[in-house]
Amino acid sequence: MERHEYDVVVIGAGGAGLRAAIEARQQGKRTAIVCKSLFGKAHTVMAEGGAAAAMGNVNPNDNWMVHFRDTMRGGKFLNNWRMAELHAKEAPDRVWELEAWGALFDRTKDGKISQRNFGGHEYPRLAHVGDRTGLEMIRTLQQRVVALQQEDEKLHGDPEAYIKVFAECTITRLLKDGDAIAGAFGYWRETGDFIVFDAPAVVLATGGIGKSFVVTSNSWEYTGDGHALAMLAGANLINMEFIQFHPTGMVWPPSVRGILVTESVRGDGGVLRNSEGRRFMFDYIPDVFKDKYATTEEEADRWYDDQAGNRRPPELLPRDEVARAINSEVKAGRGSPQGGVFLDVSTRLPAAEIIRRLPSMHHQFKELADVDITKEPMQVGPTCHYVMGGVEVDADTGAASVPGLFAAGEVSGGMHGSNRLGGNSLSDLLVFGRRAGAGAAAYVDGLARRPAAAAGLVEEARAEALAPLERTGGENPYEVHHELQRTMNDLVGIIRKAEEISEALQVVEKLKERARHTASSGSRIYNPGWHLAIDLRNMLLVSEAVAKAALLREESRGGHTRDDYPGMSPEWRRKLLRVAVTPDESGVSVEERVQPSMRSDLISLFERGELEKYLTEEELAEYDAAVK
Ligand code: FAD
Repeated sequence: MERHEYDVVVIGAGGAGLRAAIEARQQGKRTAIVCKSLFGKAHTVMAEGGAAAAMGNVNPNDNWMVHFRDTMRGGKFLNNWRMAELHAKEAPDRVWELEAWGALFDRTKDGKISQRNFGGHEYPRLAHVGDRTGLEMIRTLQQRVVALQQEDEKLHGDPEAYIKVFAECTITRLLKDGDAIAGAFGYWRETGDFIVFDAPAVVLATGGIGKSFVVTSNSWEYTGDGHALAMLAGANLINMEFIQFHPTGMVWPPSVRGILVTESVRGDGGVLRNSEGRRFMFDYIPDVFKDKYATTEEEADRWYDDQAGNRRPPELLPRDEVARAINSEVKAGRGSPQGGVFLDVSTRLPAAEIIRRLPSMHHQFKELADVDITKEPMQVGPTCHYVMGGVEVDADTGAASVPGLFAAGEVSGGMHGSNRLGGNSLSDLLVFGRRAGAGAAAYVDGLARRPAAAAGLVEEARAEALAPLERTGGENPYEVHHELQRTMNDLVGIIRKAEEISEALQVVEKLKERARHTASSGSRIYNPGWHLAIDLRNMLLVSEAVAKAALLREESRGGHTRDDYPGMSPEWRRKLLRVAVTPDESGVSVEERVQPSMRSDLISLFERGELEKYLTEEELAEYDAAVK
C-alpha cells in the first residue's frame, strides 16, 4: 500500500486548508495537502461576495470592535467570543497579506481595497473582487504554495520536499496511536487504490455538510467528512443544530434549484418583493434590530448614498431573518410562480453597472434560467448553505480535544455562534487556517516521540472502505442518499418542530441500517457509486447530530427555528450542545455544556440596553461589575 510520512497532513484544499498548509510549511514542517476533488475546486473558489475585514477603507468609523459586535449580534451571542475577537482583530492583516501575495482586490477611488455592504455588517466591510472573490483568494493561496515549492526546489532540489498536494484523494479514517493522532487513511478516486499518511498532526479543513439536504448551494464533496472523521477519532462537535439557510438560492429550473444567488445583489441595492409587489422585509424587522434598520422605503433607499444619516434597508438583515421572512411569504401564498419571491436589481441599477458589479450573477441567470437580470427580477428562495456547527476547537490554536487533531474553516465550530454573517467565512478561513497551521507545527515541535498508527487500524479502514464493493444485491447508495436528503430538508429544515424532528430521527435510524447494506457494482476504478456508499456513513452521523441537537434545543435562535418554541429562551441562552460518537460508532450522543462568560473588556464593548435583549440576569450582573 502506498505510504507517506509527513509532519502535518492538511485534509482539504479550500481557503482554510491552504492557509494552514502554508503556515505549517513556513514553520518548517513537511506538509501534505489532501483534497477529495481537483486542486482548486473547493467551496472557497465559489465564494462570491467577499471577505469581511474591518479595514475602514470605505467608512473610517469601522474597526475590530464594531466587527466583533456585529459578529456576536449575528450569532445571537452564542459565538465562541474569543474566536470572534481574534477574527475581528486579525482579518485585516490576513487580507493585506493576501494582497502582498498577489491578490488583486477591487479598489476605491483613492486606490485602497474596496469594501462592500453585506447583511448584518454595520459598515461596508467585504473586501471583494467583483462577485468572484473566492476565485481570487484560491488563486493567490495556490500561487503562494507554488512560490514555496519553488523555494524548496532551490534549497533542496525537490519542489515537493516540504509541501505536496494529493488531489482527488479522499480520506476515510484518521489513524491513532493510543489517544493521539498518528495519520490518515484514504483512497485515490481515480484508481481506488489505498493510501496511508503517517503524521503526528492532522488539520481538518473539509468544509461543510450541505449534501445531506436536497436543496443546497453545496457541491458534491460536502458530505460532512471532516465532521464525521473528527467524531470517529474521539473529538466533539458543537452547535450542530445551527444550519444556515441562505435566503437567496435559485428556485427555477428544478435542475439548478439551490444554486446560490449572492447577497451582494442586495448589498448593491437589490430588493425583495412578493407577488403583490410589496417590499415585504419591512414587515419582518425583529425587535432586537428595530433601531438599526430603516422602517420606510425612502429611508432605506437614502442609506445607499448616505449611511451616516440613515438606517440600513431590512433586506440586509442577517440571513436567518431574511430566510424566515421569505419562507413566511411563500407559505402565506404571496410567493413567485416558481415558489420563491422576487429579487430585483433591474429597476435599481443601470444595466452596465449590474454587469460590472455582478458579472457571475448575470451570466448564471442568463445561462441557467434564461433570465436577464438587467431587465427582469430573479426568483429566489432559501437554500441550505453553511453549517455553523463543527469541531470544538481551542480558539488560539485550532486544537481539538484529541492530541494532534486540529480544525479550521467551516468544519470547525464556535466562531459564528447560531448564525454566520456573510463574508465572515472567507476571513475566518484565513485567520483560523493560519492559526491551525501554526498550532499543528507547534504541537509537532513539542512531541517527545512520533506516534505510529496502531497495528490493525489500517487493515480495519481498508476493510470498511471495501465493504460496499464486496456485497452483492444490497441497497442502492443513491436511493439511501436521496431519502436522507429529502428527510433532512422536509423535517429538519428551515422551520422545525418536535414531531417532525423525531420522525426524521426514526428515518435516519432506518437509513443507517440500510446504509450498512449498500452494495456498489463495478470495480474500484473511478466508481462514484462506491464513493457515495463510503460517504453515507459521514452524512448519516452528521444528520443524526443535527437532528438530535435540534430536538433538544427548545427555542429559536439564529439558524435554528422551532415552530413549537418561537423566540429565544433565557434558559437556553448559555447552553451549547456538544455531540460525540457513541462508543460502538453506531450513532451520536448529545450533552449540554455552559458557554463561558465573556471577558469583561469584551462585554463592555456593548451598551447595556442592547445586552438586555439577549443576556440573562446573571450575565447582566457580570456586565455591571465589568463596567463599574
Ligand atoms: P472548502 O473551501 O469547502 O474546502 C473543503 C476542502 O475539503 C475541499 O478541497 C474538499 O475537496 C476537501 N475535502 C472534503 N472532504 C474531504 C475528504 N474526506 N478527504 C479529502 N478532502 C476532503 N463565504 C464568505 O465569507 N463570503 C462569500 O462571498 C461566500 N460565498 C459563497 C458562495 C457559495 C456558492 C458557497 C457554497 C459558499 C460561500 N461562502 C461564502 C461560504 C464559504 O465559501 C465557505 O464556507 C468556505 O469557503 C469554506 O472553506 P473551507 O476552507 O472551510 O472549505
